[in-house]
Amino acid sequence: KEKAFSFMLRIRLAGGRATPQQWLAIDALSDTTANGQLRITTRQTFQYHAVLKGSLKTLIRGLDAVQLDSIAACGDVNRNVMAPPLPERSPAHEEIYQASKSFSDYCLPKTRAYHEIWINDELVSGGQPEVEPMYGTTYLPRKFKTGFALPPSNDIDIFSQDLGFIAIVENGKVAGYNVTVGGGMGTSHGNAATFPRLADVIGFITPDRVNEVGSTVIMIQRDFGDRTDRKHARFKYTIADRGIAWFIDELQKRLGWKLSPARPFEFKTIEDPHGWHRTAGGEWFFGLHILSGRIKDIPGWPMRTALREIAQVLKGDFRLTPSQNVLIAGISDAQKPEIEAILAKHGLTKENDRSGLRLNALSCVALPTCGLALAESERALPGLLEKIEPLFAGVGLAAQPVSIRVTGCPNGCARPFLAEIGLVGKAPNKYAFYLGAKYDGTRLNKLVLPSITIDEAVAFLTPVIKRYASERQPGEYFGDFCHRVVLSELAAAAPATPAP
Ligand code: SF4
Repeated sequence: KEKAFSFMLRIRLAGGRATPQQWLAIDALSDTTANGQLRITTRQTFQYHAVLKGSLKTLIRGLDAVQLDSIAACGDVNRNVMAPPLPERSPAHEEIYQASKSFSDYCLPKTRAYHEIWINDELVSGGQPEVEPMYGTTYLPRKFKTGFALPPSNDIDIFSQDLGFIAIVENGKVAGYNVTVGGGMGTSHGNAATFPRLADVIGFITPDRVNEVGSTVIMIQRDFGDRTDRKHARFKYTIADRGIAWFIDELQKRLGWKLSPARPFEFKTIEDPHGWHRTAGGEWFFGLHILSGRIKDIPGWPMRTALREIAQVLKGDFRLTPSQNVLIAGISDAQKPEIEAILAKHGLTKENDRSGLRLNALSCVALPTCGLALAESERALPGLLEKIEPLFAGVGLAAQPVSIRVTGCPNGCARPFLAEIGLVGKAPNKYAFYLGAKYDGTRLNKLVLPSITIDEAVAFLTPVIKRYASERQPGEYFGDFCHRVVLSELAAAAPATPAP
């Protein structure tokens, strides 16, 4: 008798958009084929957990019925493409979303095996050998992540992506994109050859060049990425080892033309808009905070039911954000009271009345569903927040946006190395503790203590937060203060490295 094998399945959802009809299908399938919950990932899509082998086909066919699939959502390919979820409905936002979708489709593997195995039960390619023009016969050495950002929001953490496109908007239209390459989060504890890396900005391209440039970048990684050591196979190591000048040269040689100089841009925030906002086009959207992206009903807190009720009447759409929240978009003046009433009935408007720390908190799933987890993450986050929130509130800084991110292992799915406060699981209730990233996602944090408990992290933070309140410069973010003061003091106190 076969064991009850259980799977995780991730939907491909470029830019994180889902129609109400898709939401209802995704929601219903979680009851019939998974664990009755929805989980928004840090790459703007849904993950199902606890899908038994016998339910996989039902789930995939159910998704197919609403034009969704899980192709290239995992594996050594271009993963779910991220894009700004803000429903401004301006020409620029729509252009960027369309560019992200187009690039996502462009980079899909051409094989029809998914359809043969899961949808039709027949050889749709006629049994002929298939050619993958971009991935070749061996695909990529490792996963590859792409995102689009629209300054001043760096909500997608563009510098953590293997490949990024920073939109430059002029006169309300996208004039083009600054291209970024070589970002990445994943590391291994105690292995100095692995490290998080911020992407480099390499130049500017016009919008019509996105697929050409992006696919050429991917093919360079296909050809030069390390296939001998999986821990060294991400694109960031190809760039770090060979140098950015080599990469630009190789890219321009393959393209046959040169990128223009990068254009000025400025990021200011990573936070999602919460609560009610009016878009440029006059519609409304509601930003709903969802801690760790977990959508389930709990007594007194029926979030999943509420969102299902909204999906049953919503005339707009849903936008999943890179911070695991949902924007309920496309709401007319006429429909606003109806949506407002559903939110209020289920107490969901209160979820936005949160501390600046909580609204900027991320965690990966970790235990019990991720096989790579070394420590708790999602299940540890609420307790951690409850301990740190009073520290900021006690010095009158409850509303201060502070990014805090927890992961169960150094793979870094919740981008912990870009958090002002980062905890990275090492062993049960042991975390590597990081401080000092820049809030806008443009500077990595630094390791402060290699292995501490959550209570030890809170004890460390207690005097630091007090000092932050009394010694901060006007408007200074917590990460900047830690970088300027705490990390400098720790560096000054560290024993000098003996001369060789
Ligand atoms: Fe990702 Fe590690 Fe968290 Fe698993 S435990 S979700 S691999 S960061």
